[in-house]
Amino acid sequence: MSPEKATRQQTKEHNRDLVLKTIFAHDTISRAEIARITRLTRTTVSSIVSALLDENLVEEVGRGESLGGKAPVLLSLIPDSRYLIGVNLERTKFVGAIINLRGEIKEKVEIPTNKSDGQEAINLIYRLLDQLLTTNLTPIIGIGVSAPGLMNLKEGIVIKAVNLDWEDLPLADLLRRRYNLPVSVLNDSQAAAIGEYIYGTGHQPNENLIVVNVKEGISAGIIINGKLFQGDGGGAGEIGHVVVQKDGIFCRCGKRGCLETLASTSAIIRRAKLLAPEAKSSILPKKIEEISLEAIRTTFFAKDALAQEIVFTAGHYLGASIANLISILNIQKIILTGEMIRFGEAWLQSVQDAIHQSSYNKLAQDTTIEISKIESQGSILGAATAMLMDGYALLFKET
Ligand SMILES: [Zn+2]
Repeated sequence: MSPEKATRQQTKEHNRDLVLKTIFAHDTISRAEIARITRLTRTTVSSIVSALLDENLVEEVGRGESLGGKAPVLLSLIPDSRYLIGVNLERTKFVGAIINLRGEIKEKVEIPTNKSDGQEAINLIYRLLDQLLTTNLTPIIGIGVSAPGLMNLKEGIVIKAVNLDWEDLPLADLLRRRYNLPVSVLNDSQAAAIGEYIYGTGHQPNENLIVVNVKEGISAGIIINGKLFQGDGGGAGEIGHVVVQKDGIFCRCGKRGCLETLASTSAIIRRAKLLAPEAKSSILPKKIEEISLEAIRTTFFAKDALAQEIVFTAGHYLGASIANLISILNIQKIILTGEMIRFGEAWLQSVQDAIHQSSYNKLAQDTTIEISKIESQGSILGAATAMLMDGYALLFKET
């Protein structure tokens, strides 16, 4: 292709992405409104829209309000015109779902992992996808996998996933070859951030957002100007292994006193096991084998002083680390997700208090921090739609 032709082709694709993104962001919208938002000419918008109508991706859904002249025809995305698969690899189960273009889950499959790792875990993903692909929901245009650990997103390689015993695993390649579909692989917190950004409530196009995923491990997904910020090595937001307590306890990464050893669900379980047997006035179970996240949660909501102290201390360490993120990035919208959010508003308050104590007043005041409303679905939705974030080219592929 000549350079001029290549540039023309790029402009054409870019314009299609823009129009589609604008239609995607609205329930219904007219051609004139698209032209106003995208600053493309009406002629360009009209020709792109006709192509989208031909591809059955967009439909006309009646007329809007007239502003003097003829009432404009409204356009809308056809939610079930294409489907995507999202897979989230959790510690105890692998969950896969087929979603439509509006993020509605149409089919869901869960497989318990029984601590599988290595090739066995890969076989479980095959089983999950084989099962999902037997439905009559078509066309499926891509697969996204969200896994805990460090990823190379560009090449779809799992650099390191400790729990799954994967190292330098070309997961995207394996799945692409087996299913003949585009595949993306991303870290679960990055997936959660995308899911939250696209399908959570009240997020504006091109805004910034940090989603902090607090469960057995801790990491953050960062969205800047409506795009996932991955950093130079794909590890942006890996706050869980920053040392925050000198000479603290050993972490699974080999260092001591990482945030994860102080603020995660595993951290509070460990502390409860350490303190509960000796705490006479606490209603936490005295037998350490009975101390689980659920047991801590029950006693926490029964206002047990020790359970509260354990959870609020965890919240405090988390808040202090989030204060660092706020100071570096000055992103004003933060969402918390992961199993720790089951401790609710009181835990959130301890996180907020620590943010206020640890950061510049003005920065903290202008920041809102809240608990996710879509919870663990965020990672599945985000994995499935990650490919749409990088332009909407995927939606135009022949299927
Ligand atoms: Zn660590």
